[in-house]
Amino acid sequence: MRKFVIMGVQGSGKGTQSELLCADLDLVHISVGDIFRWNVQNHTKLGAQVRRTMTAGELVGDDMVESVVRERLDRHDWNFGFVIDGFPRNGRQAEFFMESYDIDAVIHLELPDEEVRRRVLSRRLCPNCGMDYNLIADRPEVEGRCDICGHELIRRADDTPEALDARLRDYHEKTRPVLDIFGRKEVIHDIDAHPSADEVQQSIRLTLGLPDYKPASA
Ligand code: AMP
Repeated sequence: MRKFVIMGVQGSGKGTQSELLCADLDLVHISVGDIFRWNVQNHTKLGAQVRRTMTAGELVGDDMVESVVRERLDRHDWNFGFVIDGFPRNGRQAEFFMESYDIDAVIHLELPDEEVRRRVLSRRLCPNCGMDYNLIADRPEVEGRCDICGHELIRRADDTPEALDARLRDYHEKTRPVLDIFGRKEVIHDIDAHPSADEVQQSIRLTLGLPDYKPASA
């Protein structure tokens, strides 16, 4: 059983790295942000409660976040383990998590704010099939259209300069201190998130002592 937490500022590649880690290790990727986005898109009661907060780039209340995480982990569909991404985001969430679950490692993706701005503001998403694009590093073949399904690409509602500022502020004030809390009990693996996604994935595996990463194109 492998239980990992992946942390890092928005745009540092948490989602991408979690997916790469989960794919061949049979781990389940649990993204709290994705769970909220799904609820917003599907107009659930929970979605209505969090939509405005998310669009403003602010943090959803701890009680709601903790119940979403508890409910997700209680499904126990993670026989080989999980990678949790986007949680915990503050001290209280970290204490809750450490009281309820034991984890094997914390992966911390490091990226300076100016690089985060560059990446996040050029990020695009296909609302139909969920494919991610980046207008700098990973452009779609036809401008503004998804390579997979042809749907028009959109910006995430919270990928605006204003919302990004709010998220960066929260990250530095509230989320970074989580690393100190985890650091008392767990080993934190600091990873430079500048290189390509494949290289970052290989660094993660090396530091965690996991089997080498084999890119799909290799
Ligand atoms: P993310 O995709 O991780 O950037 O999350 C998108 C948005 O969902 C955040 O800007 C918050 O509004 C909300 N969110 C996700 N995870 C949490 C969390 N652990 N605590 C509070 N809000 C969260």
